[in-house]
Order: sequence, then C-alpha cells, then structure tokens
Amino acid sequence: MATQLKRNSKYSEAEWTARQELAACYRIFAMMGWDEMIFNHITVKVPDEDGAFLINPYGLHFSEVSASNLIKIDIDGNKVDEDNPWHVNKAGFVQHSLFHRVLPDAHAIIHTHTTATVAVCALEGGLQPVNFYACNFAGQLAYHDFEGVTVREEEGERLVENLGDKRILMLKNHGPVVMGKTLTEAFIKYWALQRACEIQMATMSMGQPITVPQEVIAVHQRDLFMASIPGQAGKAEFDAMVRKVDKIDTSWRD
Ligand SMILES: [Zn+2]
Repeated sequence: MATQLKRNSKYSEAEWTARQELAACYRIFAMMGWDEMIFNHITVKVPDEDGAFLINPYGLHFSEVSASNLIKIDIDGNKVDEDNPWHVNKAGFVQHSLFHRVLPDAHAIIHTHTTATVAVCALEGGLQPVNFYACNFAGQLAYHDFEGVTVREEEGERLVENLGDKRILMLKNHGPVVMGKTLTEAFIKYWALQRACEIQMATMSMGQPITVPQEVIAVHQRDLFMASIPGQAGKAEFDAMVRKVDKIDTSWRD
C-alpha cells in the first residue's frame, strides 16, 4: 500500500504488512457489498512463517476487521495467537485449508456468497462468455457439484480433482473460491468475476445473450495478459480502493 503504516511491535514487519493488507481487503469487500453478515472468509499465508495463516475473527462483520484483530491460525484452523480474544470459524476454513495445504501458489483465498456469484454457480452452464469480463474467464473456471455444506474432509479429494490446474473453483449452488499468488491478484480476479456474474444476471433477465466466438475470446485473453504488469496484478486497483475505504474509516490499520 502506498502510505506506510504504523508498525505494531508485537508482529514481524512481514506479518504486520500482511495483516494490514488483509484487513484493508475485508474493508473493501464490505464497502462493495460483497460481505455476508459475519460469514465467509478471505485468508492469506503469513509470509515469513511456514504453516501460519490469517483469517477474520468469527462474529465480526467484514467492516469491523482490523490488522490486529485478524487471527493467526495453523493449517488445521487452530488459533496460534492466544491473546486474541476472538474465535475462528473452523468449519469455514476447511476448504481454504485444503487449498492452502495442497497448492503452494495459493497464497490468498477468497470465498463469498454474493448474490451474483452464487446465482451463476447455481445456473446450468455456469458463467458464459457473453460479456467482456466473462471472456477473461472462459476456459479458466473449474466447477464442483454441491454436496452440502463444505465441512467434511473426505470431500477434499474431489475438490482438488475438480479444481485441476485452474485457480478459481465455482462450487455449484454455493459460491466461488478464488485463489491468487498475492492478495491483490486474488482481489482483482474476484472483482472481475463478480462483475462478470452481475452482468450475466442482468443480461439473462432481458433475453438471449450474444455468445462471443472462441477466436475472439482467444484474442481477448492474449491481449489482456499483454496489458498486465508482471508481479503487480491488482495492485493499482487495490490501492485505489484502499484510498476510498480510508474516506469511510481508517481503523482497519490498527
Ligand atoms: Zn460458503
């Protein structure tokens, strides 16, 4: 983030930076209306501590998350920072822990229940290449059949198998799981997916959408990739949204 940030000596510099970035991300999600009461999770790996992750405290709204109330947990969802008074929704971490465990590149994982993304997850055929943002994702999404609330470990094998080499899993009838090598990359992928789903909902409510031909999708994806700055995916967009969050409330930094 552009402005440097008050340091908290209880944490390493890397952890404090990760805490502030994740807290800011929760506030962005709240501001955008992508929150779900006290449910859903965005998790990240603690950069300088193997097997440690940060997750939102169970019971707080996304708009109440701050750098210091985020909970550090191990891969099984057990709380590591014992003096944090909040609890973890361990059930909600099950699918995050699975992907963090098996995918070294899944640094950040976002799972939501927004109306638009759940609606598309509940639609036969899922996301269709009928708008600009949806074309970003053509051929990039994996799908997984609904088996009830995702808390049973034995579902893990099928989740991983269905994900394959993709990094976005559309849980049918449930919601998306978006993974990124960085939090800002996961954020910008999520934002585009959310927009793709909202626009698909609007389009299908009006009538028959126009399907974009495969050769146009290929050109679109090639040129999108060329336009991105390597290693900086989503950073400028994320920082702009943080400045907007700061106009509401800066308490996420503490
Ligand atoms: Zn869910």
